[in-house]
Amino acid sequence: MLAAAAGLALAVTAPASATTLARTAVVCPVCDHAFEAVVIHSTDNGGGISRDLFARAVGAQPVHYLIATCTRCYYSGYVDDFQDPDRVTPALKEKILRRPRLKPPSPIKPDMDQRDIPATTRYALAERVYRWRNAPPQAMAWLYLRWAWVVRDDGSYLPPSLDLMEAMREIQPRLPQNKRGNQADRELQAVTLLLADLLEGRGPPQQKPCLRLTMAMILRRHGENRQAEPLLRGLLDQGGLEPKLQRAAQRMLDSIREERRLLALARDSFELALKRDEIKPDNRGPARYLLGELCRRLGDDDAARGWFDAALADASLDNELRRWAEQQRAAAAPVDWLPPATR
Ligand SMILES: [Zn+2]
Repeated sequence: MLAAAAGLALAVTAPASATTLARTAVVCPVCDHAFEAVVIHSTDNGGGISRDLFARAVGAQPVHYLIATCTRCYYSGYVDDFQDPDRVTPALKEKILRRPRLKPPSPIKPDMDQRDIPATTRYALAERVYRWRNAPPQAMAWLYLRWAWVVRDDGSYLPPSLDLMEAMREIQPRLPQNKRGNQADRELQAVTLLLADLLEGRGPPQQKPCLRLTMAMILRRHGENRQAEPLLRGLLDQGGLEPKLQRAAQRMLDSIREERRLLALARDSFELALKRDEIKPDNRGPARYLLGELCRRLGDDDAARGWFDAALADASLDNELRRWAEQQRAAAAPVDWLPPATR
């Protein structure tokens, strides 16, 4: 797929490591069904780290494989949730085995391989299990955030086309030279440069819809949806995309809506976890930073600045996150930098 190709083209200088997956035998603590869960053997972050802490690997994204689902009763969770019997109370067992039971959002066959069950289905089931178990807000927050990352990753793909490959050739030379820098930052900087060039008439002579779609895909890939969304809406309103790319643009827009829903739930849960003093002192600064970033992504700039200030006031915040908090605080403002022609 081009999305992979596009990613590859941009990640060409990233470390040549990749995610490797292994399997581990687990027994479902609810129904005793034995099956193989997937575990991450090794990974990398050569695809860059987005400012909401999503570390993207060059190959398969580990976040897709963190949640396992029992193919018989649909009990779902991290591998730990299958290995610690204390996490399943009689009341939870009763709910899963008798009533109301878990209902997968997509069909699951009893002999299905974990990798054939969509990650979003496994996360949706785990969320229900965690709710039934009254899991602490911090655990809910991470589950929602990781689910949002899966939706983001699933929603960042475009079918292959020659026009798109051509568009990538406009992005590539604008990638910052520092090849060891954060790949997510490099890609976003290249898109920002290209947008500025287009605005000032220095870009390619014709602003092909494909070029705008490729920029939208890169922004979408890093969850910069406040910039991706107007580009996609403009493209769909104006027409000019071939039908398969039009459908892909629509899918990206739909995935943005779903990601927002999950980010809002993650934000609410992190807020609750902080309010209840559930987060260890060392992690409070990073949690406040993350809340700032989630609010910024959700378009609540005032709240974002408040959380970034709170993070910066926390002496335990490390230097890297402190630098990011300052940058993201400055970025928490209404977006008005898209050239009119690309909106
Ligand atoms: Zn089971």
